[in-house]
Amino acid sequence: MSFPADKWKKDFPILAQIVNDEPLVYLDNAATTQKPTAVLKAIETYYCESNANVHRGVHTLAERATTQYEAAREKVQHFIHAAESAEVLFTRGTTTSLNWVAKSYGEANLQPGDEILVSVMEHHSNLIPWQQLAKKTQAVLSYVELTEEGLLDLDSLRGQLSEKTKIVALAHVSNVLGVVNPIQEIARLVHATEAVLVVDGAQAVPHMPVDVQELEVDFYAFSGHKMVGPTGIGVLYGKRHLLEKMEPVEFGGEMIEFVYEQESTWKELPWKFEAGTPNIAGAIGLGAAVDYLSTVGLVAIQDYEHELMAYLWPKLMEVPGLTIYGPLDTAKRSGIVTFNLDGIHPHDVATAMDMQGVAIRAGNHCAQPLMRKLAADSTARASFYFYNTTADVDQFVEALLATKEFFT
Ligand code: PLP
Repeated sequence: MSFPADKWKKDFPILAQIVNDEPLVYLDNAATTQKPTAVLKAIETYYCESNANVHRGVHTLAERATTQYEAAREKVQHFIHAAESAEVLFTRGTTTSLNWVAKSYGEANLQPGDEILVSVMEHHSNLIPWQQLAKKTQAVLSYVELTEEGLLDLDSLRGQLSEKTKIVALAHVSNVLGVVNPIQEIARLVHATEAVLVVDGAQAVPHMPVDVQELEVDFYAFSGHKMVGPTGIGVLYGKRHLLEKMEPVEFGGEMIEFVYEQESTWKELPWKFEAGTPNIAGAIGLGAAVDYLSTVGLVAIQDYEHELMAYLWPKLMEVPGLTIYGPLDTAKRSGIVTFNLDGIHPHDVATAMDMQGVAIRAGNHCAQPLMRKLAADSTARASFYFYNTTADVDQFVEALLATKEFFT
């Protein structure tokens, strides 16, 4: 493999440590990713040299902070190919972004009897806001089926779309099955109706090039911490003509233009949505993460993760009693591998793996409806990123075999 994962790994100080007497192999990247020195430094430099509140002061530090905060927005704009930076709203993360769409767009546009379409592979963040919206507006929440293999069933989507459908909300990449949904094709189906397409991009933006205009999505949500950026910052992309008609979700300082005793007016996009002092350091850290990922290259990251899966797969197939959830064809999945070992509880698997230095996740992965569909209370999940090496894969497989041996 020509991709220098070893070299990139050295940029992440946290990864150079021994955990339980073994070199740390961090495979919980779907939950959160580690941060490179460049991102840590950008946050430190901001606090050491430029810290001030944004958009309000005229003093030098305030102007510096404002310039850096808005520069971060432009970096994100170019990263996802939004038409303009006004379409990039800073939020706390994917969850907040999706809640904003449900609350602001959803409550204003849904009538009793209208339909919201989701799928059973959604993370709770892309389910519960729609459940709440359906309750509030007396809309109907319906589910697109999955195929036997665990892919989104496009025939089911076609069959369910109707003039009643007002919102379709789907993941770009599933955080459990690892499948990549064909968003552009889905957007075309959705736009043949009056519905808007909301995409949960939490597991996509960190791992592949994303062009929101090419994908033809109406709203797109993602989190900074899953793309080597800090926690507490995320993005909601929305098409201007939709955002313009939407009311803000939160009210207070920063987002107002004029305030009268009984009424107020809002600033222009994107600021009308960003009430209160924003996460300035978080946005600047996210800007640094975007710079860093752009240097590594999103096409290179995507290709490498496929190569890593191709390297892992034959080894995994030799682990006795292993059930893998989602398609077995690596071409149809990203670097997320959800599995169970026969007769061993996934929490025991994760604990035994940790004793061997390997950090994986066990649980329901915030996808309880999917777990029910898979007939699994919980599962183990290893999720890879571009700083994981083939040596990490080897240590993971060895730990898995040793775990199997230990419990049987
Ligand atoms: N959607 C998907 C597919 C996810 O994997 C996650 C996080 O695991 C989220 C949404 C929620 O992201 P956050 O907790 O950063 O808001």
